Amino acid sequence: MAQRPYVIDTMISAKQIAARVEELSQEIHDEFNGTDKLVVVGLLRGSFVFIADVVRELDLPVEVDFLEASSYGDSTESSREVRILKDLRGEIAGRDVLVVEDIVDTGFTLKHVVGLLKAKSPRKLKTIALLDKPSRREVDIRADWIGFEIPDEFVVGYGIDFAQRDRNLPHIGKVRFLDDD
Ligand code: 5GP
Ligand code: MG
Ligand code: MG
Repeated sequence: MAQRPYVIDTMISAKQIAARVEELSQEIHDEFNGTDKLVVVGLLRGSFVFIADVVRELDLPVEVDFLEASSYGDSTESSREVRILKDLRGEIAGRDVLVVEDIVDTGFTLKHVVGLLKAKSPRKLKTIALLDKPSRREVDIRADWIGFEIPDEFVVGYGIDFAQRDRNLPHIGKVRFLDDD
C-alpha cells in the first residue's frame, strides 16, 4: 500500500494551523490559569508537532509527558482493543492534566486513554485534538477542544504520518492516490 503513488493535497495550511493553535492556547490558558503545574500529555507519535506548538503558546508552568497507545481494529468486530506501548513517566495524581491527541477518529483511543488516566486520580483532566472526524465516531467521546473538524479523508502532515512518512510537512494534507480512477 505504501508503494502506491500518491500526492498530498493541502487541506489546512501552516498559517491556518498556527492561527488556530494561538486561539486554542488562549482558551487552555484561561482554563488552567493559576494551576500549580500543568501536565501536558502528548499521545505519540502523531501529536508531537502539535504539542510542541501548543506548549510554546502557553504562558503557564508546564510539564510535558508522553504516552503511546496502539489500537488494533478487527475488521469484522466493532470492539477495538487499545494497548499502551509506552506509559507516562511522571505521576498525575492530584495534578491538572491536558491530553493532546492528533486525530479523533472512531474515538476508541481517546476514550481508552481518558479512562486510564482518570483512574490515576488527576485533579482535572481535559483533552484537545488537532483534528476531529465526527462522521467516523463509534464510541461516545469528544475532545474538550478541537482544532478542526474534517471529513472522512486520510490525512498526513504536521506530525501525522502515512506509513511513517510525511510527518515533517508543515501543513495538513489529504492523501490522493494517483492510481485511483
Ligand atoms: P481512533 O481510536 O479514534 O479510531 O484512532 C485515532 C488514531 O487513528 C489517530 O490518533 C491516528 O493515529 C489514527 N488516524 C485516524 N485518522 C487518521 C488519518 O486520517 N491519518 C493518519 N495518518 N492517522 C489517522
Ligand atoms: Mg494518535
Ligand atoms: Mg499512525
